[in-house]
Amino acid sequence: MFPRAFEYVAPASIEEAIAALKGSEFAKVMSGGMSLLPLMKLRLVSPELVVDIGRISGLDSIDDRGDMVSIGALVRHYQTAEAQNVPRALAQAASYTGDVQVRNRGTTVGAVVHGDLAADQPSAVLALGGVIVAQGPNGTREIAADDFFVDALTTAVEPDEVVTAVKVRKDGMSAYDKLGRRGGRTDYAVAGAAAWLQKDNGSISDARVGLTGVAAKPTLANATAEALIGTDGSDQAIEEAAAKAADGLTILEDLYGSVEYKTHLARVFAKRAIKRALSA
Ligand SMILES: Cc1cc2nc3c(=O)[nH]c(=O)nc-3n(C[C@H](O)[C@H](O)[C@H](O)COP(=O)(O)OP(=O)(O)OC[C@H]3O[C@@H](n4cnc5c(N)ncnc54)[C@H](O)[C@@H]3O)c2cc1C
Repeated sequence: MFPRAFEYVAPASIEEAIAALKGSEFAKVMSGGMSLLPLMKLRLVSPELVVDIGRISGLDSIDDRGDMVSIGALVRHYQTAEAQNVPRALAQAASYTGDVQVRNRGTTVGAVVHGDLAADQPSAVLALGGVIVAQGPNGTREIAADDFFVDALTTAVEPDEVVTAVKVRKDGMSAYDKLGRRGGRTDYAVAGAAAWLQKDNGSISDARVGLTGVAAKPTLANATAEALIGTDGSDQAIEEAAAKAADGLTILEDLYGSVEYKTHLARVFAKRAIKRALSA
């Protein structure tokens, strides 16, 4: 199917992009287009203006910023996957995102802004205590990942804002694991989990676990993280903590699984991600 007719601009600066967004009734930013274009072709989204940020310079680098690493808006999935300074949970989530074409074109920031419950990188950004940097007509603001994922396919970015980067913490140990819709780890996730942990004197001093594919939006498994803190990270401690992965959450049934199955997968992948992080 063809999309409805739309105007297209490819500004040379973020300021020009923001002005174009502000001047339109319904505009959409396009980075990789790997989610936006299919939605437009299906006519599920019909913007009057597409603002292609692909020609704006300075958005395609991965930079160390103190205790965080900053991933620019035009960094592709494959670059996030291969970078030495990207924490393992996010690098693994990027490496399991779609196929080669998708990884060469789609961006980490686009995946985070899109906020699909079945997408891999949002839960890794959550687990890594991420911060989303958005620039709009009134300047730049930083939004904690904890507050960024609002509902299904709904994130806290305003229609006239461009997200310029996503920052994640560099410290600790982390990992991501998933079950893809066709089995294995490629394609959208049926379910997955990202774990971030810190160890101090042999015990886990801090932890965060993000879940993919089981709730309406990328979600933290707070009960698991809390149960893990203070333990020695033994198999038994991980098992008991992971058993709480769905506690306090509204688990959703979808085409790929019942509530019972998704609850089971939340526990299984929380456990796998934690074990993987600890074995780094
Ligand atoms: C065949 C196929 C398989 C896929 N498999 C997977 C998979 O296994 N796992 C997975 O996680 N994803 C998968 N995806 C989705 C893919 O990762 C997309 O690249 C990603 O979801 C969106 O990134 P993008 O750069 O393409 O964003 P776009 O499609 O350009 O944009 C997506 C949305 O985010 C907004 N947006 C994008 N960038 C910005 C910005 N800088 N500022 C403000 N708003 C912005 C757009 O307006 C739009 O609403 C798949 C896609 C395809 C086509």
